[in-house]
Amino acid sequence: MSYNVYFKRIFLRQTYIKLTYAMKGGKQAIHKNKLLAVVYLWRGLLLLGKWLPAAINILLKRKIYIPNIGISLTTRCTLKCQHCDHYIPTIEEQYHEMLSFDSFKIQLDNLLVNVEKLFEFRLLGGEPLLNKDAARMLLYSLEHPKIERVELVTNGTLDISDEIVNILKQFSKKSSVYVSNYMANKALMPLLKTDNIVEKLVVNGITLNFHKDLLWSKTEQIQRHYRSEAMNKCYFMECLKLTHCMHIRGGKLFACPRAATFSLRDLYQRFFPPAPELNENKEYIDLAKPVEKWQFFEFLGNDFFNACDYCSNVSEVKGEQVTPALQCKQ
Ligand code: SF4
Ligand code: SF4
Repeated sequence: MSYNVYFKRIFLRQTYIKLTYAMKGGKQAIHKNKLLAVVYLWRGLLLLGKWLPAAINILLKRKIYIPNIGISLTTRCTLKCQHCDHYIPTIEEQYHEMLSFDSFKIQLDNLLVNVEKLFEFRLLGGEPLLNKDAARMLLYSLEHPKIERVELVTNGTLDISDEIVNILKQFSKKSSVYVSNYMANKALMPLLKTDNIVEKLVVNGITLNFHKDLLWSKTEQIQRHYRSEAMNKCYFMECLKLTHCMHIRGGKLFACPRAATFSLRDLYQRFFPPAPELNENKEYIDLAKPVEKWQFFEFLGNDFFNACDYCSNVSEVKGEQVTPALQCKQ
């Protein structure tokens, strides 16, 4: 059963989301800018051309293709946002992580040993540029033959070094940078280098992902909901409809970045006892050893994760919107 669940929930769902995004963009643009509409539709067709063979391989040969995965190069951040979607500011000092290059390499290799292709790999934080090995990690990811695209995500408070820009240029067809646009938050302006970063990337012909009118959803306090199993299954299915990106932190692959934060077992135990059992393949996959195919099927075939019982993602997305990156009071 897990295999079909993996295919339907993860692979087809992601294909559907990406295709509707391309088609919607095309439809909206068609009345205003015919050229843009053609670009959107072309992207949709390319996507189909790329993902259809993968779907056939999954069905007929039981091969593993993964739509997207993110990794925290560090949990440390230059900001402390009130509505941080990954709850990074709730991580206490003793639990913070700064990933070494060797660990990064081992985890990525173990993850991909039985995977045909990872379509998108995102390097995140906290703020990933705080990691002194960020450039090496970026290069290693871009050189990996099983990874199709690599995106570096930065909050716009740190300069992007020439070394990183040169690597991005060298792999310009495979790389992009997502720069969070926090400029609507005027109180942050003295800290932001967003304009300079964007200019540097554009001048060097690097693909930029930048939202002009970024708004955030207000996050709710972490709390245990004590939903029934059936309710948690429904909640997880609703969440899958929104967006889904698995996440690596602390040497483990989790369902999402929130699950990675919540899995700090002490956090569960200290604030929300009794803590659930965090079984391997139920809550995460340990990347200290090569991941076998059955582990993916079991993990991705989960009806929900323990983390979902601590999460309010679905109601947040449909709830109040706020200025991005409002800072915590202390
Ligand atoms: S910049 Fe803000 S939202 Fe991003 S990781 Fe840091 S605290 Fe979280
Ligand atoms: S923890 Fe929240 S965001 Fe993560 S999969 Fe569960 S419901 Fe979705």
